Amino acid sequence: MSTVFVIGSSNTDMVIQSAHHPKPGETILGNNFIINPGGKGANQAVAAARLGGQVTFVAKVGDDLFGHQAIQHFQNEGINKDFVTLEANQPSGVALITVDAKGENTIVVAPGANLFLLKKEIETVANAFQVGDFALFQLEIPIETVQYGIKIANSKGVKCVLNPAPAQVLPNELLHGLFAITPNETEAQILTGIEVKDLASAEKAASILLAKGVQHVVITLGAEGALYCTQNQSFHVKAPSVHAVDTTAAGDCFNGALVLGLMEGNDWNAAIEFACTAASKSVQKLGAQASMPHKSDLV
Ligand code: ATP
Repeated sequence: MSTVFVIGSSNTDMVIQSAHHPKPGETILGNNFIINPGGKGANQAVAAARLGGQVTFVAKVGDDLFGHQAIQHFQNEGINKDFVTLEANQPSGVALITVDAKGENTIVVAPGANLFLLKKEIETVANAFQVGDFALFQLEIPIETVQYGIKIANSKGVKCVLNPAPAQVLPNELLHGLFAITPNETEAQILTGIEVKDLASAEKAASILLAKGVQHVVITLGAEGALYCTQNQSFHVKAPSVHAVDTTAAGDCFNGALVLGLMEGNDWNAAIEFACTAASKSVQKLGAQASMPHKSDLV
């Protein structure tokens, strides 16, 4: 059985729901307060594991309450946590999140130990890479680690998928090694300079990423679903129409599901449909990992 290696961040999310987001300088009274395990890497690992994947998570947490709780949590989720290590003298990553009445979120992340996931951790996990495995990266760990991880994984016949979030400009060498990239509209715009506002502009942005050597581009379009592009084909997969209460980690759910769908041998259309279905479930519940559906929720 192949493995999804998720190489990325683990955070503890502290979420407040409120009627609206505070403006700069404004203090408002919120409603509920929830503490959830989060971080894009951990979210994507949990998404893939709950949907039935064999998942190994590679991450750094602090030697503190949040870090130890996170490791226990990964174990409870059935994720291989052998490559989640403790970083002494650094706090675990935390994220402060507000969610408004429309389900839109704002997020501030203090990365802490996530910034200490380095090349040596990639070298350690590389011994476990096998042909047919997938490696899924995001950008909440050092970019050098992502770049090195892609290089080593490629050399072992592992397919590398990058969810380029949070948005940032990336070196061409990094993009060139990718099996697939999965930006949302904002990330696609920052990567390509093309303002993504509809399918035509998304396709234009995708063509720039393909020209940089990425084999497959999937641009997520929120409630509109996702656009798939490769050199000779492109198509739009619509998202199921649902009532969204919290879109936090919709992209993470999509990515975990997409990679699992591909690893299980589905074609791109089926894998993206699977990812859209899973993500549409996640937006109907509050929280990051708390909102990730199980396989049984999709039937
Ligand atoms: P986030 O940052 O909130 O985690 P994102 O910006 O990375 O998300 P989006 O493009 O907003 O990613 O959403 C990812 C996927 O989630 C979409 O492709 C879609 O399948 C699903 N999705 C998001 N919002 C909705 C919605 N309102 N209704 C149904 N599906 C949705």
